[in-house]
Amino acid sequence: MDVVFFPGIRPTRPEPLSVFLPPLSTGVAAEFLRRYAGERRIVVDPFGQSPALALELAREGASLLVGCLNPVVRQLIHLQAQPPSPEALRSALAKLAAARRSGPGTPGDSRPMPGTARQAERLEDHLRSLYMVTCSACRTPTEAEAYIWSRETGREAGAEGAPEHDRLISRVYTCSQCGHEAEEPATPEDEEVARPYLTRGIYYHLALERLAPPDHPDRVHTEEALEVYPLRALYALFSILIRMEALDLSDDERRAAEAMLISAFDEAHILRGYAPHVRQRPRSLQAPARYKEVNVWLTLQRAVDQWSSERGQVAVRPWHPGDALEPYTVALFAGSARELAAELEAVQAECVITALPRPNQALWTLSAAWAGWLWGPAAVAPLRGVLHRRRYDWAWHANALLASAESLSSHLASGVPFVGLLGESEPGLMAAALWSFDRAGFQLEGRALRADTDTAQLVWRAAGRRELLGPAPELSSLDAAHPIAQQAAYQVIVDRSEPTAWEIIHAAALSQVALGHLFPAPSGEAETEFTNCQAVINEAAESHPQVAAAKGEESDLGSTWWIHDPTAASIPLADRVEAEVARLLAEHGPIESASLDHLVCETFPGLVTPETRLVRACLRSYGQEDEAKALWSLRPEDNAESRAADLESVRMALIHLGERFGFRLSGVNPLEFRDAADAPAIQFFLITSAAFGRYLLDPRLDPAHAWVVLPGGRVSLAEYKMRRNWLLRRAVENGWQFLKFRHVRRMLDDALLTRETLEQRLALDPLGNPGDQIAFI
Ligand SMILES: [Zn+2]
Repeated sequence: MDVVFFPGIRPTRPEPLSVFLPPLSTGVAAEFLRRYAGERRIVVDPFGQSPALALELAREGASLLVGCLNPVVRQLIHLQAQPPSPEALRSALAKLAAARRSGPGTPGDSRPMPGTARQAERLEDHLRSLYMVTCSACRTPTEAEAYIWSRETGREAGAEGAPEHDRLISRVYTCSQCGHEAEEPATPEDEEVARPYLTRGIYYHLALERLAPPDHPDRVHTEEALEVYPLRALYALFSILIRMEALDLSDDERRAAEAMLISAFDEAHILRGYAPHVRQRPRSLQAPARYKEVNVWLTLQRAVDQWSSERGQVAVRPWHPGDALEPYTVALFAGSARELAAELEAVQAECVITALPRPNQALWTLSAAWAGWLWGPAAVAPLRGVLHRRRYDWAWHANALLASAESLSSHLASGVPFVGLLGESEPGLMAAALWSFDRAGFQLEGRALRADTDTAQLVWRAAGRRELLGPAPELSSLDAAHPIAQQAAYQVIVDRSEPTAWEIIHAAALSQVALGHLFPAPSGEAETEFTNCQAVINEAAESHPQVAAAKGEESDLGSTWWIHDPTAASIPLADRVEAEVARLLAEHGPIESASLDHLVCETFPGLVTPETRLVRACLRSYGQEDEAKALWSLRPEDNAESRAADLESVRMALIHLGERFGFRLSGVNPLEFRDAADAPAIQFFLITSAAFGRYLLDPRLDPAHAWVVLPGGRVSLAEYKMRRNWLLRRAVENGWQFLKFRHVRRMLDDALLTRETLEQRLALDPLGNPGDQIAFI
């Protein structure tokens, strides 16, 4: 069964730590709450990966129980639900700024540093001096916002691989004196300023100590984790942390300081990289070849603004077994999904809504480090495993998900819906999720996938304890699954009737096997089973005789697959989506683009969900936006009467041209110009849409001298369709051509036109021609 994909709205402002947390569009969790929660709205999120999801569910009235092992994410949920007041943020920053540096010899500050003589210096002044540069325009000292370092070049230069030998490339600053804004090559002076921080000082060891004492087996892994911070950043962060701990702060100020520090920890690591080595979503600890070292003090200042604009005001409290759940409240359990599972019977969970976890070494390792820094080694204990874990592959992940799903399954009542949201869907994660939940006894009910946003929405039902104790399925091999997966792969291409991205084909094959409960019964080691299963289903998906013969060609959708004999295909999905968008604008406009997108997804559910870019291209082709109200309506020229009149006038113009040059005319659509021997010389297919798939892909039509005549307002949409569907591009290579309404009208006035130059002239305003300014001589 298909799930209707719910797109939601991309958040306008990233939440703290958003590069690591699962991406989640606003409104999605609330929609699934409406669809699946029972009357009492008792909802559980056993994986606790997403503060945004927890807050949205509580705001919608759920009595929400969140299991969350990661103390940093738990703290983020607390802080986002009840943000520190702007006053507390400002006063905490002011107190930190004014804190004096303690004298040499005190713990944590005995290393020789520039400024040892300035013991009474304010912390703010000291930390800003770490980033001092000289403005190249006015020659006055000012403060760098960031430095750019190259790791690659450091190695090439023959230095040992350690990060302290990375090469300083450039500096980024806005001069406080003259306003000069620059990213320019670093100077010898900049190198001099950085030099004291190129070797490990006492702050480095303090940062290590809080994670693992010297003889601890995790010590070496901890060192690897610290390499993602420039040493100057560690020095600055720990200077702040130590002062914060010594300051006399109110509770609200202390929370404010922690919030600012978490933001600073997140900004100061190097994993985001720097152009051209940017990583949108860093997942491993591997250092990028080029990175940005930010001015740590400025990250604190930005954090004040960031946290001041959190809207918050959601009730949140720690939860312990036996506590009641309350509506509009996040109850936060400090433990894993497995630990939470045993409590689910007592709370009578009606529904599970969760962001399914994916492997992310960077998030987990950094969380362990930050927890240790903020709250000491005890806080690292639950995350200890991630420090030495080295496997982040799908088989490991599938096995881990299986363990969680099995414990959840045996404590959820039969029929309880389990909604799994995947914000970073890819075939490996999809396979791990579908395989593990099926093996744990969950029945897949439906799935939807929007390929261009990598977002999947999966719904299972818990089988309940009794069913689990029943006889195991008799299947012991994938023999039964293979033909089902093969057929599903073929069917989804037919359903879309266009070359289809591999991740959709893969999801179709895999989910059809899950829907039929056809994964083999456990027979051995789970990881091996998962790997086999993945291999068999991948092979099945690409081995259908129809699919195998026509695989693989690049397009805007990535590598796409088609079928050998397309007679089973119907109208291409893009053309159906276009018609639906036009209809919705006519019948439901003025309408918000998000509502329209939602309605489109209702018409095309599950694995035929069209990509966002396609819906947008259709909307821009047919709609006009009232920007003040953010509402879209059908363009006046696109209402049915105007387009009918348009079409008729273009047809008359073509007839006029044909008669002028002595062609014999025949047909209505196509309109044919026939030569003296009564053979068709030129054919015109007139449409008011960009839905030309039915012509271009019809093997009975001769592409030579065949023209699609369409309004200029469809050109961008037509071009987008070409980019995403190579069948259309091939049709054009075979001879199909395009003619815009406006060009036909212009040709009526072309005195130099002859019968011989007619087709040549028709081609003067092709798709991709930016404007109307065509050289008519
Ligand atoms: Zn200047």
